[in-house]
Amino acid sequence: MTPRNGRLKERKIEPWTALLDEGRADERLVREAREGWADSHPARLVDIPTELHPDVLAALGRIGIERLYSHQAEALHSAWAGPTIVTTGTASGKSLCFNLPTLDMLCRDTRARALYLYPTKALAQDQARALNALGLTKRVRPAIYDGDTPRESRADIRRNANVVLTNPDMLHVGILPNHAAWAELFSNLAVVVIDEAHVYRGVFGSHVANVLRRLHRIAAAYGTAPRVLLTSATIANPVELAERLTGLEDIALIDADGSPAPGRRIAMWNPPLIDEALGTRRSALGEAAELLARLVREGARVICFMKSRKGVELLSRLAKDDLEAAGQAELAELIEPYRAGYTPQQRRELEGRLTRGELRAVVTTDALELGIDIGELDAAVVVTFPGTVASLRQMWGRAGRRGRGLAVYVAGEDALDQFFCRHPDEFLERPVEAAILDHESPLIFAAHLLCAAHEGPLDGGDVQFFGPRMQAHAELLVSAGRLRLRPPRDGMSEAGGGETYVPRDPGGYPAAEVSLRSASPEHFAIVDVSSGELLGQTEAARAHSTVHDGAIYLHQGRTYEVRDLDLSHRRALVAPFHGDWYTQPKRETMTAIERLLDRHDALGVSLSFGEVSVTETVLAYQRRRLSDHTQIDLVALDLPETSFSTQALWFELDSAELEETIPLKSLLGALHATEHAQIAVLPLLAMCDRWDIGGLSTNLHPQTGHPTIFIYDGHPGGIGIARTAFGRFEELCKDAHRLIADCGCAEGCPSCVQSPKCGNLNEPLSKAGARLLLERMLGHAVTMGGSCSTAAPRSSSPV
Ligand SMILES: [Zn+2]
Ligand SMILES: [Zn+2]
Repeated sequence: MTPRNGRLKERKIEPWTALLDEGRADERLVREAREGWADSHPARLVDIPTELHPDVLAALGRIGIERLYSHQAEALHSAWAGPTIVTTGTASGKSLCFNLPTLDMLCRDTRARALYLYPTKALAQDQARALNALGLTKRVRPAIYDGDTPRESRADIRRNANVVLTNPDMLHVGILPNHAAWAELFSNLAVVVIDEAHVYRGVFGSHVANVLRRLHRIAAAYGTAPRVLLTSATIANPVELAERLTGLEDIALIDADGSPAPGRRIAMWNPPLIDEALGTRRSALGEAAELLARLVREGARVICFMKSRKGVELLSRLAKDDLEAAGQAELAELIEPYRAGYTPQQRRELEGRLTRGELRAVVTTDALELGIDIGELDAAVVVTFPGTVASLRQMWGRAGRRGRGLAVYVAGEDALDQFFCRHPDEFLERPVEAAILDHESPLIFAAHLLCAAHEGPLDGGDVQFFGPRMQAHAELLVSAGRLRLRPPRDGMSEAGGGETYVPRDPGGYPAAEVSLRSASPEHFAIVDVSSGELLGQTEAARAHSTVHDGAIYLHQGRTYEVRDLDLSHRRALVAPFHGDWYTQPKRETMTAIERLLDRHDALGVSLSFGEVSVTETVLAYQRRRLSDHTQIDLVALDLPETSFSTQALWFELDSAELEETIPLKSLLGALHATEHAQIAVLPLLAMCDRWDIGGLSTNLHPQTGHPTIFIYDGHPGGIGIARTAFGRFEELCKDAHRLIADCGCAEGCPSCVQSPKCGNLNEPLSKAGARLLLERMLGHAVTMGGSCSTAAPRSSSPV
């Protein structure tokens, strides 16, 4: 097909043509882009490598695959050669990339075993179904082993399955501690598949990195060194993530996508301004409901992503109302909210209804982004920034059916949303974020070393799995009374006969005390009083600020009100909540520098990185109306102080120099607003949420003796966020400056310097002062030229 044809094709009337015309006219459509036309390529197909086992070739024939996408063949060859990560697009057939080498292996060696790790149970179920569909029943015996697997089938799975599909949590708590029962698997473990690896970042990733190190260690004890194959959504640092996650080196990257580009129009949509000075806009939810109704009316099949379940219900309700009011009740019936807990069968039913046109739209939470398997649709509408460009792209990837599609992002009022609307080009071209994790985050590392010692005595040789700092952390566990050093046994000369660390309480089961989703082993249980159900846990360090009496608490998209925070039993009793307010705690925070790890001058300030202890007292909470954020009241609380250690960067300013730029009375406001702006944009550099980051600004810190801004990891021990910010400080300051300078508001708004999580309830804040402060620092970058380039080696020329 010639390019001319392609261009003619896009001029065709689509279900969204009129809508986009209107958006262009009234400027709600801030930016459009096209994907898949400019780099339009047909599928790059190659022959199936004939080296594959004949049974695998036959199975491919049975499911109608005659040729492979180029990246699938490349992945196969790469997987034969060494560990590999594949990061091609959403519907590019990534599963085949790891299934082909695995199936080939299983067909050649009847004893070989494979272990597949999925972040959700639903994904494991989908994959088991796909494996079964290949019809290799004699050679390939997949089985799911997770919390839902009936006790009576477990022994059989351990003995007979040669592909075990599970999740990291089960591997951690169920499989590794009982490795003897899994001897058959570990002594024949040939392949480990880690699908959706980008999910393993932050706290969860730091845990999983340790679980995988324990896995390698146990496998080695049984004489195997499995080939590791990973897939990931597009992220900035796939190889780095794969290496940090697995502890392996030289992982090959397959990222040249050979599947056909779908041809997709991208629209960034900003709800209209209602009050310019205050910076308030029409709600993203109302705007999205209108878009959804329009698209459904025009006959498009749509998926719409929202953050909370309440939002999902509200949005579907509003869109239905819109259609009903226009006398189109029959269309209103075609919109359905997608609920959690659907089985794969129910999801396929939903997919069928969408394909047949019996359903036009599903509205879902972004939490289900991974679990959802409903094929490709005409349009994907993402309501407010989902936190990372990587996941936004994944959601957009749902749009594109029959060579055309519309991917919409409806901006909210948050700082990042509006930052993107003001820099749309950069947003669309922006490289996706880097996924970060730190397997040596102290509490997490210690917890897994203890688990490992229970799985087998730790000796010097285990440094190859856990890294050179293993011994120091093991010693800490000795002083904490959890491990003891066992002297070398007489007469033992073989390796492992030296000193070993063994548990002090051999009968214990430490894995059961460690949740992979939380940074610290100390947590509070969250119990729904209406049903008695245990909803989950929250880190003890965060309990006072998130589940204090009266707090409105969001858990997996559902809203609850805390009835009672029971400190002595470490639990919060909550009940489903239907009111129209939210809460924000008022806190008093102090930071004490415990250990300086790195320090240099950058942008005319003294920049440090190290360990700090954060002491916090939650004093009160504010109730605010959801609809317009107005304050209802302030309720006092009586809670003891809490503290935790974590990693932080801090920078000290010279007060005498500052006075030339900023009047003393607005100094604290300027520091505070700078801190907020930096925290708001930090997720652009490190794949995390602003709720994972804490900050403190003071015009005189007792230890530094200067005005100082701290930015710290919000999780005990730290997971690498502050370290990333330290390494890319100049970029952080530039982004923060643009966030402030480009916002049209007069004195600061939620789209620039106000923070939804400020412990000081956004007092005092000086937008103008922060702007001056950052300009002064960045001006320094210009005059200093490259001489302070150590601050941000990755940044480009100074602005
Ligand atoms: Zn603003
Ligand atoms: Zn604040």
